[in-house]
Amino acid sequence: MSGYNPYDNVLATLESAAKVLGYESSEYEVLKYPERTLRVAVPVRMDDGSVKVFEGYRVQHSTVRGPAKGGLRFHPDVNMDEVSALAAWMTFKCAVAGIPYGGGKGGVAVDPKKLSKTELQNLTRSFTKAIAPIIGPEVDIPAPDVGTTPEIMGWIVDTYSTLKGSFTPGVVTGKPIELGGSLGRGEATGRGITITAKNALKALGRELKGATVAVQGMGNVGSVSAKLIHAAGAKIVAVSDVSTGIYNANGLNIPDILAFVAGGKNLLKDYKGDVEFIDNGQLLTLDVDLLVPAAMENMINQDNAANIRAKLIVEGANGPTTVEADAILEQKGIPVIPDILANAGGVVVSYFEWVQNLQQFYWDEATVNQRLENIMNDAFRNVWETAQEKKVSMRTAAYVVAVRRIVETLQMKGSI
Ligand code: GLU
Repeated sequence: MSGYNPYDNVLATLESAAKVLGYESSEYEVLKYPERTLRVAVPVRMDDGSVKVFEGYRVQHSTVRGPAKGGLRFHPDVNMDEVSALAAWMTFKCAVAGIPYGGGKGGVAVDPKKLSKTELQNLTRSFTKAIAPIIGPEVDIPAPDVGTTPEIMGWIVDTYSTLKGSFTPGVVTGKPIELGGSLGRGEATGRGITITAKNALKALGRELKGATVAVQGMGNVGSVSAKLIHAAGAKIVAVSDVSTGIYNANGLNIPDILAFVAGGKNLLKDYKGDVEFIDNGQLLTLDVDLLVPAAMENMINQDNAANIRAKLIVEGANGPTTVEADAILEQKGIPVIPDILANAGGVVVSYFEWVQNLQQFYWDEATVNQRLENIMNDAFRNVWETAQEKKVSMRTAAYVVAVRRIVETLQMKGSI
């Protein structure tokens, strides 16, 4: 959609939460602005000997409640407005989860699929050098996001550690286990989504077992969500990636499909199985019990919201639903469990990873998963109760919880 600016979404949602809280603009005005933005040139030596320069960004939206925290995105559409919105969503996400972080985000406008592995490593190292002055375990901690992986996090640790002169695993999270990554981090976002879907369905008097489900997106979030939702006994009738959607009313063979697309080695359009091919638009408007948009921003918008038939939406991606679409869905009575609550599992286990790095004491996977579940359950209960008490949508309620915590922190610091 032309003219779409995700930062407008942030501002509109912030305003509605502040209104519910009865705050004066002076109390939350500061949250409308990123604290610090950095735009960098990222020169990269290409395999043919030439040098290409890419645009990179790191935005620290807030450090009120702790160091800035949030992923790095390598995608051709990355720009300052998008990174700023994603950074702000991290601030509110960490506050909803109750973990001691602010919010940040970064990225490079590049299509990583078009780079060789050497070029990708050169790009990552060049970008790390460019943002090194403002990141660090105590100030700003990047992590994976769309187009970035644990391997890329490993290159960041190495570059940053070389610059600082000492091994500093806590500078990023989502690292390979051998470099100080946490058990359970790879599956954490999808696990958190599954826990949240269960909680939401239970609160609505239904259950995940036997529910029909559509999942948009086969990246880390979409594929792990599909895996765990399927394992919980739900019937996944449709999934999609950038190439196509696939559908089977009797339920897809999820383990087979995930093995086929694993690690991005195949696209769904080449999948041979008992499936019907549908497009991403059709997937979003299927009549299912649960829809998990886990692709990109702006997928559910004013053009398609009226056609959505899902009984519940649990947001896997950041910002998949626009403000206009939210209003339409609310009118239709379709509950939306917002990104900042539903997909917080990733950053929660990032927090565990960082704690383990700082303490040099590592937890087993069962401990990680149990602590994740406790945090996701508490966050859900808190937001659900706020929604009931204030008679607002789950999105507004999540922002009410987050904004209240951040503004109270500002007040205790005497900054407002
Ligand atoms: N990129 C993930 C998100 O959007 C994780 C961020 C992190 O772990 O810091 O929540």
